[in-house]
Amino acid sequence: MRAMVLERPQTPLVAREWPTPQPGLGEILIEVAACGVCRTDLHVVDGELTSPKLPVIPGHEIVGRVAAIGDGVAGFTQGERVGVPWLGYTCGVCPYCRSGRENLCDAPLFTGYTRDGGYATHTIADARYCFALGEGPDDAAMAPLLCGGLIGWRSYRMAGEGAALGLYGFGAAAHILAQVAVWQGRRVYAFTRRGDTVAQAFARSLGAVWAGGSDEAPPEPLDAAIIFAPAGALVPAALKAVKKGGRVVCGGIHMSDIPTFPYALLWEERHVMSVANLTREDAREFLSIAPQAGVRTEVTRYALERANEALADLREGRLQGAAVLVP
Ligand SMILES: [Zn+2]
Ligand SMILES: [Zn+2]
Repeated sequence: MRAMVLERPQTPLVAREWPTPQPGLGEILIEVAACGVCRTDLHVVDGELTSPKLPVIPGHEIVGRVAAIGDGVAGFTQGERVGVPWLGYTCGVCPYCRSGRENLCDAPLFTGYTRDGGYATHTIADARYCFALGEGPDDAAMAPLLCGGLIGWRSYRMAGEGAALGLYGFGAAAHILAQVAVWQGRRVYAFTRRGDTVAQAFARSLGAVWAGGSDEAPPEPLDAAIIFAPAGALVPAALKAVKKGGRVVCGGIHMSDIPTFPYALLWEERHVMSVANLTREDAREFLSIAPQAGVRTEVTRYALERANEALADLREGRLQGAAVLVP
């Protein structure tokens, strides 16, 4: 198999080749067809997430086909199309697992962080955390759903039922969520970097009723806002934009520090919350809703060996939609 490997944080990924592994008990071997590039991968590569296994193969938006099935695996067939998300394993016995909050498990493994991921031609996954994807949309088009879609969906549910929804940072996750929100009859307000008229036009093309800079006030107060950009300064900005009782959901795994802000911004039962990881239930829900909502992803394909270039384009904000590696 070939893979792009992170040997040390803050260094470029390196191309490596070694014999394809065989799946162990409860595992499947997947021939990777496409793997999305998520902002979390950048946080791993840049060393902002501090506990990767090393070396590690990043990538947790994996679409591929079952190439071999280990002992004790039920429910998958050879050649079937499957998806592998960020949640790679949970313990099943901690208080979080036992109360339906496996996203907060005390002893989890995460794909492309604490177990090897999909920047490769092949990957091994715990079959219990893989999802049958059926046939249908193109592999590369499906890949961004596996994290931007799934964790985006969890963020969206936590944002509540309000009709006016702000999305801060209009990248991979927001471009998927905007389509779901519009399909559900909500009004989407898209906030981008100041002056990023290309991203603003992209947001409008997906049904946003308004798009502007994150320093601008929306034309109506929002019921909720989801922050996907990793900038802590957006927290007080979003609090300022939501109405009484409004929610501000931080959807990313890492953010720069949140500046101090006056209590008046939080007063009147405004909430700030974060979303961590996903449960398998989130995944099952979203994977059934995405086709109903007619979600179409905008992807830029890169050959696997160009992973560093894809990461650089994401870091510099040169992408619309999502980057996807294709082996
Ligand atoms: Zn657990
Ligand atoms: Zn992700």
